[in-house]
Amino acid sequence: MTSHQFNNAATEAIQDITNYYDNISERPVLPSVEPGYLAKLLPQSPPTEAESWDKIRADMESKIMPGMTHWQSPDFMAFFPASSSYPGMMGELWSAALTVPAFNWLCSPAVTELETIVMDWVAQMLALPECFLSKGKGGGVIQGSASEAIVTCMVAARERYVTRTLEKEGIVLTEEQKEDRSAEIRSKLVALATKHTHSSTHKGANIAGTRFRSIDTSLSNAFALQGHELRSTIEKLKAQGLEPYFLTVSLGTTNTCAVDDFASIAEVKRDYPDIWIHVDAAYAGVALVLPEYQHYCKHFSTFDSFDTNMHKWLLTNFDASCLFVQNRCDLTDALSITPAYLRNNFSDQVWFVIRTWGVEGLKAHIKHHLKLSDLFVDLVKGRSDLFGIITPPAFALCVMTVNPTLKQRAPKPSTTEGEPDAENGVPYQDSHIAVIPQQPDSEVLEQANANTKKVYEIVDQSKKVFLTSSLVGDAYA
Ligand code: PLP
Repeated sequence: MTSHQFNNAATEAIQDITNYYDNISERPVLPSVEPGYLAKLLPQSPPTEAESWDKIRADMESKIMPGMTHWQSPDFMAFFPASSSYPGMMGELWSAALTVPAFNWLCSPAVTELETIVMDWVAQMLALPECFLSKGKGGGVIQGSASEAIVTCMVAARERYVTRTLEKEGIVLTEEQKEDRSAEIRSKLVALATKHTHSSTHKGANIAGTRFRSIDTSLSNAFALQGHELRSTIEKLKAQGLEPYFLTVSLGTTNTCAVDDFASIAEVKRDYPDIWIHVDAAYAGVALVLPEYQHYCKHFSTFDSFDTNMHKWLLTNFDASCLFVQNRCDLTDALSITPAYLRNNFSDQVWFVIRTWGVEGLKAHIKHHLKLSDLFVDLVKGRSDLFGIITPPAFALCVMTVNPTLKQRAPKPSTTEGEPDAENGVPYQDSHIAVIPQQPDSEVLEQANANTKKVYEIVDQSKKVFLTSSLVGDAYA
């Protein structure tokens, strides 16, 4: 492809992309294809001869789009937001255009330095303590995902624990003895998290080859881990000869957006300084751009690392998981990478996004979503006959249930036709639960039970709310 051809093809691609976003709400969110649909549409072997761009472009609409789940649709209401924005795409375009394997400073001074600078900007925007900025021993590095950030910190924590234990033992060992003793120490290590912490901590422990234990939390504390629960778990494990070395605390758990009790956990950390505490703020962390949330940062200087995904809720395309550590040597020592490790092409995206919106624009974006969430919560509360709220709404997340008291009675079999029997009737098998088909059409809705129809009414109302929040169409830029 020549630069002239690229110019034409890229112009068309950008037209296709803007058309896609302008009309995305007309597409069904979920595809209606069967597993294996794509293999039937594509040749079994790669093309021998070059194909024209026109042909490739046409296949995007005819073959790929039918198999897409449209995460950016305003009708997409599952899982979590996965940000996309035009400035984010521009950053991605430049990153692809430059394509620099920047594994040390000289391989691309601009890329290496941009990541450090932009991560310092992010730390300041989120009001993280100064110890996470690069001017001291700390700093930020962009990771692909929050899970990757956890496993990276866990390996660093494991090696730091081993090194500190060896130092405390103070015995002079040969290299081989040191390796054997290190393996013994590693075999006792336990990573901790609560039952509500994202599963990546458990998976990380499997990858790091250490044990994992989960700590119970209670609904009365909105599932937030308390210092005394942590302390008793540590004491119990130590009594068994095991060594807790890593804990994930959450600023916004996946299920309910619970925030662990950082103050009491920080007190425990003072007694057990060798346990690495990682703050997983994958989704909710970007809300720290708002001053009203920044009180959560008060105890972070006691913790070792913090991570949030800009690609979830802050207008940045995949992958921009922002990991900050207090001591970058913990990472470099454990992972044997060069000190100029702060490198990643995705810093282009973060840079473009922050500059295009400015801190005030990013604050307005989060505020807008919080306001939409309040509207949604009001809609839900206004229908307490249908819904219950389980934990207090937090960070634009509303954890709700179809009201369990919503049981209706069926007519007593045979006797008086059509008259429900409040005393003896049996519950309708299908009516106290709202069954939500994935692709509702008029026929499905026709057959839906009464509660399902009511749920759709609410969804329809809330759609009007969500429609106004389409990210790419946001008017803050
Ligand atoms: N932590 C929390 C609190 C999350 O909600 C999620 C994902 O939803 C993760 C971690 C995992 O994030 P990632 O997919 O970036 O690994």
